[in-house]
Amino acid sequence: NKKLMLKDYIKGSPKESDLHLTTESIELKVPQGSNAVLVKVLYLSIDPYQYIRSTKIEKPGYFSSYSPGSVMASYGVGRVLESGHSDFQKGDLVWGKTGWEEYSLLTEPETLFKIQHSDVPLSYYLGVLGMPGLTAYVGFYEFCAAKEGETVFISSAFGAVGQLVGQLAKLTGCYVVGSAGSQEKVDLLKNKLGFDEAFNYKEEKNLDDTLKRHFPGGIDICFDNVGGKMLDAVLLNMKLNGRIAHCGMISQYTLDEPEGIKNMMNIIYKRLRLEGFVVTDYYHLFPKFLDFMLPCIREGKIVYVEDISEALESCPAALVGLFNSSNLGKKVVIVARE
Ligand code: NDP
Repeated sequence: NKKLMLKDYIKGSPKESDLHLTTESIELKVPQGSNAVLVKVLYLSIDPYQYIRSTKIEKPGYFSSYSPGSVMASYGVGRVLESGHSDFQKGDLVWGKTGWEEYSLLTEPETLFKIQHSDVPLSYYLGVLGMPGLTAYVGFYEFCAAKEGETVFISSAFGAVGQLVGQLAKLTGCYVVGSAGSQEKVDLLKNKLGFDEAFNYKEEKNLDDTLKRHFPGGIDICFDNVGGKMLDAVLLNMKLNGRIAHCGMISQYTLDEPEGIKNMMNIIYKRLRLEGFVVTDYYHLFPKFLDFMLPCIREGKIVYVEDISEALESCPAALVGLFNSSNLGKKVVIVARE
């Protein structure tokens, strides 16, 4: 069983050398009497939180850090090889929390979901039909209270979460602008995902001016994935009674000291609502979310862009890539093709 281990807590930008590959021989069996499920891992999801959990930084109310020397973990899609749990049978396709390894013995089967619909790509259960999809759905519908005709800004808009938020906002009839870190992503946001406008934040000298250019009348809703300077500029451009769904702060994760936000008083001046949320508090909405999202995908109302690489060995580079803008859509690694 090949697996990727965290060497030590990561400090600063992640490097491929922060992880190392080991091989161990294991018996492909569920221990007698246990309710564990043994899964052959087919796909792994690469997400920013794997970095957060690999640092020593305290995360009160969030998830604990991975211990140095332990196997990396994320959501994965797999095939059940053997099951000690009555809800799962040999041959079932499942998604849930797996290790970054070829075979995972899952001792918490309550975190596994059986895949009922396999007419869509299985990797979608790590993206549009999985945790990032639910994040976009919950963040947009529970926190943004969007109405037709409102203006919406999304940072990191071509990512796993952002690309969906933009499409949900378009389905609601909003005017939608996204930011991303390359011209290629900007073009795809406008030409493939239906955003009204998009810009490359790396090319902009003054983000306040940029937002004023795109939102001359101000922003009603911001779905923020990035924090830092972008959030500061957003605060200056929000309309009265605007809403900010605070999903992530990826520009801050690798810094020793988070940047200060200068324009916080705008929250008061403009009576803004800024709310953070963690998607795992909303897993009870999964059935409702699937009922909504599956038809949207089948009818082509929602499209989803994935960036797929192959082999367990490519996971470290994939994680590093999330922090230098190189993923072109939801990052997924194929571990095995059965
Ligand atoms: P993405 O697929 O968007 O990948 C990360 C992207 O972040 C990169 O592609 C890059 O895109 C952007 N980025 C990286 N470094 C920086 C930087 N210094 N400044 C600005 N942008 C940067 O990831 P996800 O869609 O999976 O996640 C998006 C955000 O949502 C993250 O902050 C994540 O932590 C958060 N999240 C929160 C959840 C919750 O429950 N609250 C659940 C899931 C995700 P670009 O080309 O734009 O630079």
